[in-house]
Parts: sequence; C-alpha cells; structure tokens
Amino acid sequence: MLFERNCPGCGTPARTVCSDCAQGLVPAPEIAVPGAEWAKAAISYDDLAAALIVAGKNRGRRDILRHLAQVLSPAVPRAAEVVTWVPANSASKRKRGYDQGKIIATTVAQAVGLPARQLLKRQAGPTQVGQDRVGRLSGPYVKAMPTSLTRIVLVDDVMTTGASLTAGTAALTEAGAARVWALSVAAVP
Ligand SMILES: [Zn+2]
Repeated sequence: MLFERNCPGCGTPARTVCSDCAQGLVPAPEIAVPGAEWAKAAISYDDLAAALIVAGKNRGRRDILRHLAQVLSPAVPRAAEVVTWVPANSASKRKRGYDQGKIIATTVAQAVGLPARQLLKRQAGPTQVGQDRVGRLSGPYVKAMPTSLTRIVLVDDVMTTGASLTAGTAALTEAGAARVWALSVAAVP
C-alpha cells in the first residue's frame, strides 16, 4: 500500500512540502539576538509558514521540520564547530514524542557536515504558556552543559520575542562559548 501524505501548506497530495508552497515561503525579516555574533531567520512566520511548522511540531510531520531545516542550513557560518538547539520543555516533548529543535539542529548539522549536540538543558521553572508578556520575555530557564566546543550555532523553530534564543545564547556564553550564532527557521514579522 502506498504511504499517502499531504502538503500541510495546501493539502494537496505530496510527500512533503509541495513545490508551490516551498516557493511561496517569504524570506524572514531581519532579527537581532542580544549577545549573539549575529542572528538570522530563514522565513517569515506567515500563515503558510505557521501551517508547516504546526504540522512539524504537533502532527508528527518530522519531514516538514527537515525540509525547513534545509532552508536554514546555508546560513551556518564556516567558523562554527557544532550545532545545538533550544530544548523543548519536557511536557511538550512527551506529548509529541520528539523535540522539534533537535530535529532541526540535526538536519542543519548534517547538511553542513558538523556535529549536532545537546548543549542546553531546561531547568525547572514556570512554563511559557499562560505567562504574561514580561514572564515570556524573560525566556525559558536553560543551563549550558559542559563542552570544549566554543563556536556554537544555536537553532530554534520560531522566533517571536526572541526570549528563547536570547536565554540560550546567554547560557552558552556564560559557560564559555566564544561565539554564538542564533538561527531561527521562522521569525514573526
Ligand atoms: Zn503545498
């Protein structure tokens, strides 16, 4: 039996993102992440990007995450040694069965021939959902794990306030990273 799938952007039968939707993705606005060497996002978080990312995050479509990560990989700087990600909180990871950030980081790393390593850990703290804006801006509680790698690409799926990438960059820098580049698949325009 054939394994049937749809493009989550438009619903037409396709193995992954269809070519029309792939071409319909809009380049991201410029982003800034305090503490990072620089920050870049691949696509603008519009309705199409949202449909793809929701499918990747919540409907088990890891192929979509991999497709989006491929779009992001050309942005990885040559000086980078390793790719890591902002880990999902354990509740959403349990619910989905996977960490979308890890899939994005692994795909990006493979595309450019670098290792992907988990260098950040979530700390217990209030979840971001339901928090007020000030709470969300303070970002997730993350801690860096010890590593001798100091030139680090940090990836995330969607940048809204930038709190996750900022918190991750700060934790890596505090733990001794010399350079951190922040990359997001999508950014809210
Ligand atoms: Zn499509």
